[in-house]
Formats: sequence, structure tokens, C-alpha cells
Amino acid sequence: MAATATTPPLIACPECDLLHQITPLTGEGGKAHCSRCGAKLYQKDPSALDRTLAFYLAALICFIFANLYPFLSLKIGARIETVHLTNSIWTLQQHGMPLLGLLVLLTSLLFPLLMMIGHLYLLLPRKWGITAPGSGWIFRLLHHITPWSMVSIFVLASLVAVVKLLDIAEIIPGIGAAAFVLMMLFTAAAEASFDSHLIWPFRTSVTQPRPLQSGHSSAAANGLICCSYCKLLAPLSALEHHPPCAHCGGQLHLRKPESIQRTWSLLAAATLLLIPANLYPIMTVIRFGQGEPSTILGGVIHLAAAGMWGLSLIIFFASILIPGLKLITFSSILITIQFRKAQYPVDRTRLCRLATLVGAWSMTDIFVIALLSALMKMGVVATVEPNIGALFFAAVVVTTMMAAESFDSRLIWDTLPTP
Ligand SMILES: [Zn+2]
Ligand SMILES: [Zn+2]
Repeated sequence: MAATATTPPLIACPECDLLHQITPLTGEGGKAHCSRCGAKLYQKDPSALDRTLAFYLAALICFIFANLYPFLSLKIGARIETVHLTNSIWTLQQHGMPLLGLLVLLTSLLFPLLMMIGHLYLLLPRKWGITAPGSGWIFRLLHHITPWSMVSIFVLASLVAVVKLLDIAEIIPGIGAAAFVLMMLFTAAAEASFDSHLIWPFRTSVTQPRPLQSGHSSAAANGLICCSYCKLLAPLSALEHHPPCAHCGGQLHLRKPESIQRTWSLLAAATLLLIPANLYPIMTVIRFGQGEPSTILGGVIHLAAAGMWGLSLIIFFASILIPGLKLITFSSILITIQFRKAQYPVDRTRLCRLATLVGAWSMTDIFVIALLSALMKMGVVATVEPNIGALFFAAVVVTTMMAAESFDSRLIWDTLPTP
């Protein structure tokens, strides 16, 4: 049965593939969630375009101020060391860690900037109903870099670094730091109000092979395939001809290609990298000519022994608990899929969502090391040097995040018996 003008457009849940009809929403913020797994589906809010544009524009202005003005100053006795945002990156470079410097540059500055400029480019022409040229590939690029834009994590790391230094020096926050915090708030607000339907409005664009069954009808069971970028539905038969998505131009796949094999490989790599990341020291703190290298666990114990329980817990959660739990979560879910276990699909999907969401916070320690190295460059008085363990730990964070991205939670639901 072909879709008619009166048929409401359909949307498939990106996490469990359940089909839903797009209906007018009256709830808070106009957000619709999947009735089965709770994932966000779409939002229909008439003021969303203006609001998102305003937030990204404000964030971009704050970004400029955050880079023009000093971020933090450290005062010990008569000596003052002032750092700008970019200093932390160049310091890592000077310490022979260009890869770590590049990772900090991308995640704390370049990707957030691309997110702002990219969204403004996509959304501004929509004010006049125009879709900007190249919107498809820019939207796909932004989709890929979203998890790697870590403004909020950098703010948390800055707080950790400041509290760590309070007992040895006076810390003077700069205009750059205030602008960076504002940028974080505006970016978070913009991301919350953005929806791909602001670029490509809802429309009925696919044939509906049979009436939508209420309850447990997946897109695949209805002969439909969901674009993993913009969620536009296409007939499953389109896969034979490999056409790109009609909206964003992304390659259509029923499920992420070789999801299980790729996720297993990345999890195995992350597990191996955890060994040197924990055995080798991540940084050396030298004060008045004395100091020795410390590992991740050594740093947590040192902070607890110094009475800084809050910081010790943050680093323990971010650097030990989250990477460990993430590896266990994805490994156990992959095993349940491979053994075709049908129990607790909702809990397993939510667990994957949570593990993906919190995974990036493991970068906290890397940002703390970058900031401390940039701030503490006072020779024998106070110096922090990054060590090789930090590079291995950054590789653990990157590989676990890539594992989460390559995992397709719809595979959990594919093992369920058809109703
Ligand atoms: Zn769902
Ligand atoms: Zn698409």
C-alpha cells in the first residue's frame, strides 16, 4: 500500500528500530521518545530553529573571547604564569607528545569550533527555507565529530586542575575561562534543541508495504531501512542498488557494517592498551626539585591521602571505573547477542546508551595533565611533565569510544522472536 498524503510520516527508533508515526507533540520541548527503549526520536518545536541558531552564535562569540583572553594564571610567590587555551596543546608538543597535543587540540578546540560553524551554516539558510549547498556531507561530518567535541569535559578538567593547585599556589581565573564556561552552556543548550528535521522537514517519502502494526513492529520487518545519520526511511529494496540517502547522502545500511567484529576488535585493543596505561606513569610532579612519576592509581591514592576525596573520586570514576565498566558492558552485551539471548532487551539498550554517554568523560585526566603541564612550568619550583602512560591511556579512551560508535544496539532487538 503506497503512502498517501494523509498518512503521517514514519520514523524508526535509531536504537531499537521500532517504527513510530510522527504525530504533533504537545509535551515539554516537543520531544518524542521511543515507546519501547526510551531513545530520543525527534522534536517538533516551532521556535527550535531560532533558539538553536541563537545558542550557536552566542557560543561562537564566547569561543573567540575564550581564545583571545588568558585562561588561568598561577601565582607562586612573585612569579606568575599565565596560560591561554592553546598553551596546553603546545606544551604537550614541547614535551615530545605531539599525538596527545593533537588529541587535546581536536577535542577541546577544533571540533567544538567546527560544530558551531557547521550548525550555523546548516541552519541559517533554513530561516528562508533554503537548504545550504553541501548540507548532506556537512551534516554527516558533524554527526561523526559530535561525540568527540568535549567542551564540558574540559571545563571539569579545569576545575580539577584548579583545586589540585590551590594548596601550592594562587589561581587567578581569566576572562578566557569565563568565556569557555559560557561557551559550554550555550553549546549544550544548542545541542539539546537541535534536530535533523530543522534541516530536512518531516515528509512521507517511502512506500509503506503493509499497515503499521502497533506494539512491536520494526522498520526492517516493514521492509524499511533507516538512515543512520538523518533517520530518513527508505525501502529495503534500495539496498540492492546502493543509492545514498535522499536527504543527507549517507550510505544506507540495514545495520552498521560488521558491527560485532569491529566492536570486538576495538574492545580487545582497548583491553591490551589498559595494561601499559596503568603500568607506566602518566605524569611527574616536581616541587622544589623533588618529585617522582605517578601512575593513574598512584594519583588517585595520593589525592585521597592528601584529603582531596572529591578529586580522588572524580579521577577514580573517570580513569578507572568508566573505562573498565565500558569494556565489561560492551563485551557482555556482544556475548548475549552472539548467543541469541532475548532477555532484558530494554535494560541492555539503556546500558549501551549510558556507557556511550559517559565514555568520553574518561578524557578528564588527559585534559588535567595538559592543563597542569601548561600551568606549572617554573623549573625546580613547580613543574609538571606528561609521561608515556598518558598517551596509552588516551589511546584506551579513543578505542573504547570507537567501539561504542561501531556497536549497533538494534542487534539486541534482532535476536527477539517476531511477535
Ligand atoms: Zn527504541
Ligand atoms: Zn540520511
